[in-house]
Amino acid sequence: MRSGDGSFRALAWLMFVSVCVCTSTPAAEPGFNAGRAFGYLQQVCELGPRISGTQGMTLQQELIEKHFSQFACRVSYQDFDVAHPQSGEPVRMRNMIVSWHPDSRERILLACHYDTRPRPDRELLPFNRDKPFIGANDGASGVAFFMELGHHMASVPSRYGVDFVFFDGEELVYDAKDKYFHGSEYFATAYRDTPPAYRYVAGVLVDMIADKKLTLYQERFSLRYAGGVTRSIWETAGRLGERAFVARPKHELNDDHIPLNEIARIPTCDIIDFDYPYWHTRNDLPAACSGESLKTVARVIVAWLQTYQAP
Ligand SMILES: [Zn+2]
Repeated sequence: MRSGDGSFRALAWLMFVSVCVCTSTPAAEPGFNAGRAFGYLQQVCELGPRISGTQGMTLQQELIEKHFSQFACRVSYQDFDVAHPQSGEPVRMRNMIVSWHPDSRERILLACHYDTRPRPDRELLPFNRDKPFIGANDGASGVAFFMELGHHMASVPSRYGVDFVFFDGEELVYDAKDKYFHGSEYFATAYRDTPPAYRYVAGVLVDMIADKKLTLYQERFSLRYAGGVTRSIWETAGRLGERAFVARPKHELNDDHIPLNEIARIPTCDIIDFDYPYWHTRNDLPAACSGESLKTVARVIVAWLQTYQAP
């Protein structure tokens, strides 16, 4: 028993040393596979629309759960119901949470929404607005990003645990007055009202990050609520020479980062390419997207995870 203790201590020390060595290496190239990431994006789009509460969403949840079951992470859920904006019938909502190093008490939240808008309502011709909306960039891009990133998380040293959160019900919206952000609002309220044993030191939301012509300006609410997080991400991009990240403010967007900042008080930045010509149209398809764009964002996020230190 005692010698076992001793060898355990030796092993623990070795592990400590190897962690230290890892932490001191410069930002590692994540090996993020752009082609495989794009394959995930296509696979998600092939499910068809993934509107909250529909079969497409269920299939997507099964796909994501199966995918992450191959890695050393924990998948959990937050389920709740909302009233359908048209029928008033209950719609089952489900946030998915993929936790890396779940025992870490200081954590970083990386999030996207994974539902798709019910209709391509920015189509010019009214009869086209009732056709299916696939949401390759607006929906599948975040999912594909995290699916590919899952292959690399075990080798990304960070002083923080990391959670990938897939928000449901970002846009179960048929009419401008319908409510947005069901999933993120539920998540943020639960975090505020039933504080977990851990704390999120920062959050990063990604939305529409697969645009072939990726240009990422600093979103204004992100600068206001989470200036330190936002500037540190763009500084990381600058250091890496990733010129898709433009360190200037543009656009002021209501997105899932608002409840995280306002309700949960998690300083959260939104990385979003809002200059996407196919936004909410039928042409938001894989052909308008690129795995290289996902890789650009991954290089920055992986390097940022290794260096970010909360104030
Ligand atoms: Zn949208």
